[in-house]
Amino acid sequence: MAEATNTTKTADFDAIVVGGGFAGIYMVHRLRNLMGMTVRAYEAGSGIGGTWFWNRYPGARCDIQSMEYSYQFSEELQQEWEWSERFATQPEILKYANHVAERFDLMKDIQLNTPVASTIYDDATALWTVTTASGEVKTARFVVMATGCLSSANLPNIKGRDSFKGDTYHTGKWPHEGVDFTGKRVAVIGTGSSAIQSIPLIAQQAKHLTVFQRTASFTVPAHNQPLDPEFVRDFKSRYKEIRTHNWQQPFGQDFGSFGESALKISETERNDIYEKQWQKGGLSFMGTFDDLMFDRVANETAAEFIRTKIRGIVQDPAVADALAPRQIVGCKRLCVDTGFYDTFNRPNVTLVPLDNNPLEEITATGVRTGKGLVEVDVVVFATGFDAMTGAVSKIDVRGTGGRTLQDKWAEGPKTYLGLATAGFPNMFFVTGPGSPSVLSNMLPSIEQHVEWIAECIDHVSTHQGRTIEALPESEETWVHHVNDVAHTTLYPNCNSWYLGANVPGKVRVFMPYIGVNTYVDKCRDVVAKGYEGFRIAR
Ligand code: FAD
Ligand code: NAP
Repeated sequence: MAEATNTTKTADFDAIVVGGGFAGIYMVHRLRNLMGMTVRAYEAGSGIGGTWFWNRYPGARCDIQSMEYSYQFSEELQQEWEWSERFATQPEILKYANHVAERFDLMKDIQLNTPVASTIYDDATALWTVTTASGEVKTARFVVMATGCLSSANLPNIKGRDSFKGDTYHTGKWPHEGVDFTGKRVAVIGTGSSAIQSIPLIAQQAKHLTVFQRTASFTVPAHNQPLDPEFVRDFKSRYKEIRTHNWQQPFGQDFGSFGESALKISETERNDIYEKQWQKGGLSFMGTFDDLMFDRVANETAAEFIRTKIRGIVQDPAVADALAPRQIVGCKRLCVDTGFYDTFNRPNVTLVPLDNNPLEEITATGVRTGKGLVEVDVVVFATGFDAMTGAVSKIDVRGTGGRTLQDKWAEGPKTYLGLATAGFPNMFFVTGPGSPSVLSNMLPSIEQHVEWIAECIDHVSTHQGRTIEALPESEETWVHHVNDVAHTTLYPNCNSWYLGANVPGKVRVFMPYIGVNTYVDKCRDVVAKGYEGFRIAR
């Protein structure tokens, strides 16, 4: 149990956690059940689960295999939970999140339906005052932002958007009761991962589906299947070994590289290997060769392989050409699908590419491009998220001297290790900008952050520290390092949400840190050196 300090006595809680996704619920477990702290988590939604609570669109499922997209902090939990499919569906993942909350008795400290409006630091007392949207005010010594990287829906401000008389939905805020598209003319705007998962299923129901595509995405087949009990048994018997191995991988999972360079072998050999990965399915396609994200020529071999696949699946050559992405594969997050390209062979599906035909407006009855109005009954916005900073930026966060986080991050988010930001003592971020987060299997990354934060809070408390705060110089160095690493790769070369390029007016900075393995070592090293780069005030 963390030793109480004078300030703790005057606070309502030792810690307040904002968010009840996988990060928030594990933070509650760690601080309360394992450290004996008083904790309150506030969750805006009417249930826990975060991503898996909000994204209930048809086809929503994980694209990291379920056996690995799960917590590892409890061996019992890991052994007892049974996933049914290689890539679990949204309802199954949500059930898992609720099982965890129940198993570890977490709900009593999680307050649902409670958006946090502000978190304000008081220099005199070194306490945070957290105010909810309904006006509840509580104080805490520590605040943990577990608000999610992909939790703030991006609803583009398309001219006439609100004049549409039919139904509109955003994939990231899907109605709990589901949507019946039977007999409806449907427009889907966007062709990222959410669109790619939902389009095949919407097309099966709708009278007609029109897909508005601004940028074609690369997608590889999931080859999802029920899990074989023998595979599960073997996996569970080797969990520790598999998880340990994953921490040593740049993306926190084993993609099983076939070689250093795509360019050192013949075209035939290379395409055989791509084919093998294509048949295997999933994100490991990007791990085929080590230089795919470092060398444009190497990358183009993978891109062209996928384009050839598209031409082989989509019967209309003009549609196939429009669906074939021109950019670097992997530069925007690779999508994983079940029947996406086949869907465009259906007579009730039309693709409207927007590259030379911009989306002009939404009218009362449909979506208008330069080529005319497409009349629809329903518009689905599969337009993504204000990623990594969106949710936190909606909260009025004020640190020392009353400085707002919005002001501090006006030129782009600045953090030390994605965990803390100078001028905001005793505040932590789970998978914040500057951490591997979205360029990793996020559940292990969340656990690594939660455990680091918990250990840090324990250290500060047991050493009679009043506050811990990132030093401005360590933050500057880290931000440059994140940027330098990104620029050794091809990642910054397209308009991705990793860069904030999907949100008009957002500062263009590459936000995730590339390299789970080096990152985890760095975090350990910081602790071993007595929280190097942080200042602990007594
Ligand atoms: P979230 O799950 O986003 O939870 C954050 C919570 O904070 C939300 O419930 C939100 O309501 C709450 N919140 C935010 N602001 C406030 C506020 N002001 N007050 C109160 N509450 C607030 N990652 C993978 O690694 N593999 C995958 O296969 C994968 N699939 C994904 C599929 C989809 C459709 C999406 C959108 C993301 C996917 N991700 C995947 C990323 C996913 O977001 C993470 O894996 C993980 O679920 C994030 O958990 P979290 O707790 O950090 O954030
Ligand atoms: P996304 O990848 O950002 O895709 C949004 C789509 O909407 C893009 O095609 C984008 O086009 C388009 N768009 C945005 N604004 C538009 C506008 N004004 N006009 C026309 N088109 C517009 O969002 P997402 O699909 O929700 O996925 C976000 C992330 O969540 C993923 O990358 C992934 O990390 C995660 N996710 C994972 C899964 C999974 O398989 N497990 C599923 C869903 C989501 P541009 O490309 O031109 O911007």
